[in-house]
Amino acid sequence: MHIKKDDTVVVISGDDKKTRAKVLRIDRAAGKLVVEGVNRVYKHVRRSQRNPQGGRLSKEMPLQISNVLLVCNHCNRGVRTGARFLKDGSKERFCRKCGTSLGPIAPARASHATK
Ligand SMILES: [Zn+2]
Repeated sequence: MHIKKDDTVVVISGDDKKTRAKVLRIDRAAGKLVVEGVNRVYKHVRRSQRNPQGGRLSKEMPLQISNVLLVCNHCNRGVRTGARFLKDGSKERFCRKCGTSLGPIAPARASHATK
């Protein structure tokens, strides 16, 4: 799973299919993430001290990570990603379509470096 906070992803299933938006939060343990403006629900809130008006509150609910794809800037579409080691032993994500790097995911480690 190669999606991080602030990545731009495209939703591939459900009501928000084809929506492109930013990742706000990730819950790795649950395999879910919250995407800006996606899977919005209205929560009805009762009048309270914190919310004297009450009413309907719109908020995003988590969705399965498998329902989104990372957007490759080069391909300009959602793509499957891979991970590979670079010469210095650091790890990066890449686009399986065009091979473009999609940013580092792990710092350099000597044991994975190549000469
Ligand atoms: Zn690409």
